[in-house]
Amino acid sequence: MSRPYVLVAGGLDPTGGAGLAADLEALLAVGARALPVATALTIQGPAGALGFDKVPARLVEAQVQGLFTGRGARPSAVKTGMLGSSATARALATLCSRAPLADLPLVMDPVLAASSGLRLFERPHGRSVAHLLKPLLARATVVTPNRLELAALCGLAPTALASDDDAVDAARSLGVRAVLVTGGHRRGAPVDLLVEGRVVRRFEGRRRPGTERGTGCRLASAMAGLLAQGLTLAQAVRRAKRFVESYLDAARDESGSPGSC
Ligand code: PLP
Repeated sequence: MSRPYVLVAGGLDPTGGAGLAADLEALLAVGARALPVATALTIQGPAGALGFDKVPARLVEAQVQGLFTGRGARPSAVKTGMLGSSATARALATLCSRAPLADLPLVMDPVLAASSGLRLFERPHGRSVAHLLKPLLARATVVTPNRLELAALCGLAPTALASDDDAVDAARSLGVRAVLVTGGHRRGAPVDLLVEGRVVRRFEGRRRPGTERGTGCRLASAMAGLLAQGLTLAQAVRRAKRFVESYLDAARDESGSPGSC
C-alpha cells in the first residue's frame, strides 16, 4: 500500500529539532508522507529560539490552495503545529472545513512557546488563547497540549494542573472532541491522558534523562500519520508514543549524552 500524505502546517526550525523538519521525520518513520505548509520562519540555534516572522495568513492559504489546483497528491489527514497568529489559525480552520480537507482527521498541536521561552503565537493584548484558536479547536479531531499549553488554553496559571484529575477537568472544559494531555511536564512518570468526554485512557511511559526538543511535534505528526492509515485514535496514540520513545533512545545513543539540541 502506498504511503498516505499528511498536510502539516507549521513553522520552520533551522536546527531541525522541532517544527516542519521534525514533522517530516516523524511521518516518514510511521509510514506516511508530508505535504509541508510553512506558517512561520523561526530563528533558532544553540542559544534557543531567538525570533520568528510569520507567513501572512493569505500566503498560508495560497500554499494549501496551490496543492489542490490540478491533479496531485491528496492528504488523508492534517496536522497543525506552530501557527504564529490567530489569522492563520482561522484560515486553516476554514480550509479544513472545505473539500478536500473537510472530513479528514485533524491533529492540532497548540504550540504557544518554545521550551527556551520565546512566545511562538501572537496574542493581542486581552485576548484569550482559547478564543484566538476557537475555530481550529472546534474542528480538531484531537488537540495535543502539554500541561503548560493546556493551562494557557484554560486561562490558568502554568502551575495550576498539578494532578491528573486537574488536567482531566481542564481538558474537558475545552469542549473539544478529544484531548491528549501529554505527560512531559507531569510530576513523576510521563503518563499521557487521552480525554474523550467521560472516557479517560492512560498511556504509561518511562522518563528518559535530558530534554530532547520537538517531542510534541513528533508525537502529534506520528499520530496524524497513523490516523491517515486508518488506526483508531487510541491505537494511534499508543504507536506514536512508542515512536517518540524510540526517537528519544536513538537521540541519546547518537549524542552520547542527554539534552543536546
Ligand atoms: N519551533 C517550532 C517551529 C515549533 O513548531 C516548535 C514546537 O512545536 C518549537 C520551536 C518548540 O519546540 P521546543 O519546545 O522543543 O523548543
